[in-house]
Amino acid sequence: MTANGKIALVTGASRGIGRAIALGLAQRGFDLALNDIAAQAEALKATADEARALGRRVEELHADVSDKGQVQAMVETAVERLGTVHAVVNNAGILRASDVEHCPEDYWDSVMDVNAKGTFLVVQALLPVMKAQGYGRICNISSIGGKHGAPEQAHYSASKAAVMGFTRVLAQEVGPFGITANCICPGIILTDMGRVNLDDPDVRGAWQAKTAMARIGDPGDVAGPVAFFCSDDSAFVTGQTLNVDGGIVLS
Ligand code: NAP
Repeated sequence: MTANGKIALVTGASRGIGRAIALGLAQRGFDLALNDIAAQAEALKATADEARALGRRVEELHADVSDKGQVQAMVETAVERLGTVHAVVNNAGILRASDVEHCPEDYWDSVMDVNAKGTFLVVQALLPVMKAQGYGRICNISSIGGKHGAPEQAHYSASKAAVMGFTRVLAQEVGPFGITANCICPGIILTDMGRVNLDDPDVRGAWQAKTAMARIGDPGDVAGPVAFFCSDDSAFVTGQTLNVDGGIVLS
């Protein structure tokens, strides 16, 4: 799979799965617009420098994906500096664990704002660009948590289910313009966020036992499937959800 200099925007790219996706796309020949919130500027620059060392053009764009004005400015800057955007990976996400009974309202709001509304806002800002060029690849990072979920993650599960529903309808709207929209559902991946499920050795062992591959995922495990959805190899694949979980959810 080669990108022939296509340009991809990756949100939440400073660390974890977003960083691995950015580097995976860079290795496959994508130039990059890499996003994270301003507070992560140093970590984002480190990811960007790694991608530059692979010979790619890379722009660092600080924006909170849940803020419409910042998202609009981010997309305008990406297009101004790189010429266009062919593919987007909506990876930025947060998890604030709480059971339903005690879940503070702001946990619900912030998780929905970043995970669900953030995905919507980035796509909305990019659609005019993608429609004008008659080409686009939209890859939204949901979660197997949006299908099954786990205790203390009901609001997170709701946000990730929202991303899947959004993507299925989006695919129907944008298909005639040469744009595909698909979801990736990572399983249990060892990142700062994933540690919520992994710090307790018993919980970690239980997840490992539930996984056909008998191991916890690495961020790099997600990069290849995302690159597929960002490439022309998936030109006739849209509205789909792919589990990248080592075989927890079998379908
Ligand atoms: P992570 O290590 O916490 O990284 C997420 C990145 O997104 C961080 O750099 C974070 O910045 C950034 N971010 C947060 N809010 C943002 C905002 N409003 N605007 C822009 N960037 C923002 O998480 P991860 O494990 O790599 O997860 C990446 C994606 O995969 C998420 O959508 C997550 O829900 C999904 N996922 C993860 C797992 C897993 O097991 N790890 C499983 C299924 C799905 P800060 O550090 O400042 O918050």
